[in-house]
Amino acid sequence: MNASRPPLKPLDTALQELLGYATALAGIEQVSTFEADGRVLAQDVVSALHVPPQDNSAMDGYAVRCAELDKGVPLPVSQRIPAGASGQPLQPGSVARIFTGAPVPAGADAIVMQEDCELLLPPDAAPGTLGSVRISSTPKPGQWIRRAGEDVTRGAVVLSKGERLTPASLGLAASIGMSSLAVLRRPRVALFSTGDELVMPGDIAPEQMPPGAIYNSNRFFLRALLQRLGCVVTDFGIVPDQREATVAALREAAQQHDLILTSGGVSVGEEDHIKPSVQLLGELDIWQIAIKPGKPFAYGKIYRGEGEGAARGAQDACHFAGLPGNPVSSFITFMVLVRPFLLKLQGITQAVPVSMALPAHFDWLRADKRREFLRVRRNAAGGLDLFPNQSSGVLTSAVWGDGVVDNPAGATIAKGDMVQFISFAELMG
Ligand code: AMP
Ligand code: MG
Repeated sequence: MNASRPPLKPLDTALQELLGYATALAGIEQVSTFEADGRVLAQDVVSALHVPPQDNSAMDGYAVRCAELDKGVPLPVSQRIPAGASGQPLQPGSVARIFTGAPVPAGADAIVMQEDCELLLPPDAAPGTLGSVRISSTPKPGQWIRRAGEDVTRGAVVLSKGERLTPASLGLAASIGMSSLAVLRRPRVALFSTGDELVMPGDIAPEQMPPGAIYNSNRFFLRALLQRLGCVVTDFGIVPDQREATVAALREAAQQHDLILTSGGVSVGEEDHIKPSVQLLGELDIWQIAIKPGKPFAYGKIYRGEGEGAARGAQDACHFAGLPGNPVSSFITFMVLVRPFLLKLQGITQAVPVSMALPAHFDWLRADKRREFLRVRRNAAGGLDLFPNQSSGVLTSAVWGDGVVDNPAGATIAKGDMVQFISFAELMG
């Protein structure tokens, strides 16, 4: 090991620094509530009304005045209130037929569900006759009444600025009458894959692949991960392993994008052109993290001005994140570093993935100097199984697995130990 090499940066330090560079993008768009799933609110959403707007029935049944009920003694039905109608005040000594969602008439203080009622109609009753009702239960005041404002009160902030909208939040916004919402603009991300060995699926058939060639897999999952995080992706395809081509591609992409994301070419070999190209066009702020897989992660900026190096000016810059080429390294570094960065660019600060302690149903006896993210899967016994091949090139581990064990540097794991599990679902959305 080269003694002069700077120590790898701990993940927490790198993440803190990275988030320090991510300031929320300016720009607000008004979008239809229908189209707002996954977007981030630019303003608090305040309710102009109570939800529900008035007391209403939670059941199909009869609205009653509890004090008037004498068990077994029938009472006349004085009106019928379907959902959408408003009804009249309840006449003394009577009950009202009522349906779920209909407003409770003034004077009624409980709903009796129809299963507890016997409707009494004369044998020759004309259609529409309301009849009378015998009630077999003793209702308590307030029973089966949904109170006005019990979901939302007028003036309440129902959704907050910086919140990412979910299907449920769209429904809640609609319930207070919002047909459109103010959201932040999406981050524009340029995606590059580097590597002369890469071939696009569809370009060359598997049986025709030349020696040394591999299919570009990173491009597919990175694009999908970016889209899940609400980014607008420009896919620049494969950049050859050449300095001029790399510099030209970065320079061009920086003009129109908030972030350039690359995979591969970020290590120290002479075929790795990403790092020197970023240094030429801007600055490299973070490089090499003490995690496994994922060590060769890089973060920097590409200045948009003319000229070279610092002369171009750091004020107007495009973010740059360079992921390792090995597919699992690329996948993991995206999830633990790029994801929180992209969320912060969108104004989301609550991006810490929830981890849970679960028992390992495996041994992991090789302690590593770096913090490891082991691909595992929850089993039916409530524990975690380990994918047998933890190589950073084995993408099957990320498909077989449903998450990772966040294993501290230097730690071994014995069967039965409690370990920290983070699901992929936590790390992708
Ligand atoms: P690099 O970081 O460029 O040295 O690449 C490390 C390893 O990842 C090499 O084995 C590459 O062939 C592989 N690799 C790089 N980019 C991709 C990609 N887009 N898809 C699949 N494998 C890749
Ligand atoms: Mg390469």
